[in-house]
Amino acid sequence: MTGAPTPRITPGLAAAPTEVDLVVVGLGVTGAGVALDAATRGLSVLAVDAHDLAFGTSRWSSKLVHGGLRYLANGQVGVAHESAVERGILMEVTAPHLTRAMPYVVPFTSSTGRAQQLLTRAGMRAGDLLRRGARTSADTLPPPRRLSTTELLAMAPPLRSAGLTGGTLSWDGQLEDDARLVTTIARTAAAHGAHVRTRARVLSATGTRVDLRDELSGATHTVAARAVVNATGVWAGDLVDEVRLRPSRGTHLVLRAETLPGLTTAVFAPVPGSTSRFVMVLPQPDGTLYVGLTDEPVEGPMPDVPTPSESEIGFLLDVVSASFTRPLHRDDVIGAFAGLRPLLDASTGAGEDATADLSRRHAVLTSRTGVVTIVGGKLTTYRRMAQDAVDAATAAAGLTARACRTATLPLLGAAPRAELAALELPTRLVRRYGTDAALVLSSAREVTRLGDAELLRPVAEGVPATLAELVFGITHEGAADVDDLLDRRTRIGLVPADREAARAAAEHALALVRSHAGSRPGQPPSGSSATVS
Ligand SMILES: Cc1cc2nc3c(=O)[nH]c(=O)nc-3n(C[C@H](O)[C@H](O)[C@H](O)COP(=O)(O)OP(=O)(O)OC[C@H]3O[C@@H](n4cnc5c(N)ncnc54)[C@H](O)[C@@H]3O)c2cc1C
Repeated sequence: MTGAPTPRITPGLAAAPTEVDLVVVGLGVTGAGVALDAATRGLSVLAVDAHDLAFGTSRWSSKLVHGGLRYLANGQVGVAHESAVERGILMEVTAPHLTRAMPYVVPFTSSTGRAQQLLTRAGMRAGDLLRRGARTSADTLPPPRRLSTTELLAMAPPLRSAGLTGGTLSWDGQLEDDARLVTTIARTAAAHGAHVRTRARVLSATGTRVDLRDELSGATHTVAARAVVNATGVWAGDLVDEVRLRPSRGTHLVLRAETLPGLTTAVFAPVPGSTSRFVMVLPQPDGTLYVGLTDEPVEGPMPDVPTPSESEIGFLLDVVSASFTRPLHRDDVIGAFAGLRPLLDASTGAGEDATADLSRRHAVLTSRTGVVTIVGGKLTTYRRMAQDAVDAATAAAGLTARACRTATLPLLGAAPRAELAALELPTRLVRRYGTDAALVLSSAREVTRLGDAELLRPVAEGVPATLAELVFGITHEGAADVDDLLDRRTRIGLVPADREAARAAAEHALALVRSHAGSRPGQPPSGSSATVS
């Protein structure tokens, strides 16, 4: 994985292989996971996305690494255990650099019913049992406990104190960023030999043939494959008509951290009148808070980018306002985003080989022509979903592959937490790239010939992303334009005003990489070929 960099994550289909063991369609967390799983089992892989890495649902999540408590509440013990196991693998083995323990409090007030208090405490204990059952260390996720009113206010100062009667403190996993996880998985897959192509749309697929269009040139390509995995999330039914989905929309708001001053702990604010629904207030490391989320059924064709409705925004503001001293207003909302949950319709017709038992669990479906669709699940369980999909695809195609090894395979940049903490590199880069923070900086120095002061300065006032990250996005992560850089390699685009402020920096990064590539003999005059090293 070291030595001369090799172009691996590249927009378009120029010089893409025309014959592979496995084509993976879709580069959300699921498809990126499938590409990694298959490449590390020794299969030749072409993995494509019509737009970009993490273009779909995978960038609109709550960025949590769930322990599966909600499944337990529905009596789905096996699914809950699987989720807790995958959370432990992500936090302790594969991505300690991209995850952290997130404390969250549930406040009780004089109007919180006894039944709700008992239920919340039971949930807290069950969550810890799941952690222990999954053998996740208490150093990774500390045990939960009750909080007095004084302790609660010390942890979450902006909570409304009138009527507060204490609460609970629990821990779950939180991602640095969902799109960053996808990008890191895709880069790791590429480092293990997968060909990863963005701007490559699959027009039609059978189990042995895929017709694609290069979205840059408009040219069509045909690839012969021994197996094909459809990991296109809410668009899965467009490729395999036996797959039917019933998506639902989840909306989050973005607020500046100063809106609820001093809040560093997540708060689960109860929805008035419900004993089990909460709105989450989730502090982020970049000076923002997310507030979410909703669950609205969606009909009709799936939009490329879903939009939140004003009624969802109003609902979230109302619930949170009831729990905090300062009421929230529409103009506190500096950004809002919505994602579509790829929920399988229980009556889906792909019946014969369906392993779906429940709509919120993942399902592996093999179509009449042999395309294996993997759908549902969640970010947390992507690794297990990928394993199941590759097992099904190799079985359907009679392909010989090595055993799955992703449960013990650290993603690029991963290291034990103590090692990460000891790195003498900019904290933000370590949080987003782990041990690869050094590579981010050294390659940006080499490409731009700029000094660290310029490479590590925030790209705009109040926008902590740096030029070094933008340059690395282009040189190593396949970013091809301003949108890739602002909306997926970084998440600056979640706040439209920040996006405008940072646009010039993204254009500057693209120009710097292009002029570097153009100045090297034999290099293409474009910065869009990503390399892994
Ligand atoms: C609001 C919300 C919050 C969530 N929060 C969490 C959370 O906190 N934790 C958690 O674990 N899970 C969470 N989830 C669930 C999780 O985000 C999803 O299950 C997961 O991201 C789905 O990933 P995917 O790769 O299957 O689909 P997607 O990310 O949608 O990827 C599908 C990809 O396929 C591509 N594509 C589509 N058609 C084609 C084609 N014809 N050719 C080529 N490419 C194509 C698209 O461009 C897209 O990039 C949340 C979901 C939602 C909606």
